[in-house]
Amino acid sequence: MALSPELISILVCPQCKGKLDMEPNETAFLCSACRLRYPVREGIPVMLVDEAEKI
Ligand SMILES: [Zn+2]
Repeated sequence: MALSPELISILVCPQCKGKLDMEPNETAFLCSACRLRYPVREGIPVMLVDEAEKI
């Protein structure tokens, strides 16, 4: 399921409130400032620092 551009445009990093980059396959959002990767699970972005993976 593709994420809507409207949803993507309002998403920010919960830690730094910065802009996120979406991975090309839409499986995660990346914050380059925090070096964290927020997963997308079943089409829903998981915007939780505790769930994020360090990159
Ligand atoms: Zn961040």
